[in-house]
Amino acid sequence: MKQELIERFIRYAKVNTQSDPESSTCPSTQGQWELATMLVEELKAIGMEDVTVDENGYVMATLPANTDKNVPVIGFLAHMDTAPEFTGANVNPQIIEQYDGGDIMLNKEQGIILSPNDFPELAGYKGHTLITTDGTTLLGADDKAGIAEIMTAMNYLIQHPEIKHGKVRVAFTPDEEIGRGPHKFDVAKFGAQFAYTVDGGPLGELEYESFNAAEAKITIKGKNVHPGTAKGKMINSIKIAMEFQQQLPADEAPEHTEGYEGFYHLLSFQGSVEETKLHYIIRDFDREQFEARKAKMNEIAASLAQKYGNDRITLEINDQYYNMREKIEPVRHIVDIAHEAMTNLGIEPKVKPIRGGTDGSQLSYMGLPTPNLFAGGENFHGRYEYISADNMVKAAEVIVEIIKLFEQKAS
Ligand SMILES: [Zn+2]
Repeated sequence: MKQELIERFIRYAKVNTQSDPESSTCPSTQGQWELATMLVEELKAIGMEDVTVDENGYVMATLPANTDKNVPVIGFLAHMDTAPEFTGANVNPQIIEQYDGGDIMLNKEQGIILSPNDFPELAGYKGHTLITTDGTTLLGADDKAGIAEIMTAMNYLIQHPEIKHGKVRVAFTPDEEIGRGPHKFDVAKFGAQFAYTVDGGPLGELEYESFNAAEAKITIKGKNVHPGTAKGKMINSIKIAMEFQQQLPADEAPEHTEGYEGFYHLLSFQGSVEETKLHYIIRDFDREQFEARKAKMNEIAASLAQKYGNDRITLEINDQYYNMREKIEPVRHIVDIAHEAMTNLGIEPKVKPIRGGTDGSQLSYMGLPTPNLFAGGENFHGRYEYISADNMVKAAEVIVEIIKLFEQKAS
């Protein structure tokens, strides 16, 4: 299994599938089509059925049931794109056998080192087979590891027909990193009752709570006058914008929060005397607190409008996704089965809230409850990204074990 996982992963990692938030097509970039086409061929080659890719680049396939038991149809998903914030072109993965626990030279010419001094969790991988970058790109373990693990698990079940299972659906999706993954996902066509994204971090991660998320865009109009004759006339939009920011609680920001704490995050601040634009994201696990945060922004805008004039301030808030817990709690057994699968394999489940969203956050509200399983990678979205091939084996085994448990519990 390990060799197959490494080969598949490296093959997928070498295709540049960086997504692009500026693009309006789906997938947002041509490279994702290239990978989709490759995956369609590979799904057919291992013997999956109903292999399709639709006009938006969503790849789907079926592993038919080999039992007469009434087992629910379950799905596994992984995303094809890599993060826009770091280059995914010419990814050149390095394999380190029997990692010795010390510094890893990623790039000699540029002196780029992956060190346990900077990343303490690296030391825990002593003895593993690690896959790293060459220091100049991201790796794309997020989420090509997930794709390789699902593929390998399907191939394993096809090669071992003595393992009984219900119908399994798999999907490989575009543009997760730009928040559009589920936008054109055809839940009805997928036809699963529940699904799991294989898109989490280190060994044992199991997630079914995400933020409630919204973004806020504020535009403030000023009035520019020659500074020599500005008295009583000039209105400096930058200063009004600063007032807006200062009325938000300073400690409710990403750099001061963790665990279940929510925040306001000022993403960008662009301004001149004449006009200033503020872009925030708002995050909270609790729905009421989330609504209160949005109300707080409205209150501040209203008070500044009162002070400086109604037409000076516009505030636009859009919800982005909601905490999937609300949709997963009623089918809690799907989380329990994932938990049991990990325990059976000697993996300690690490259940924690996701301080972000996954495709599952949106899919759960589209009628497909979808918790998230670990894929195994570390340091996502940058040059220090790496993954243990040994833990990729564990992730593929968890997928197989979940499928087995659903069959065993069915009648
Ligand atoms: Zn991901």
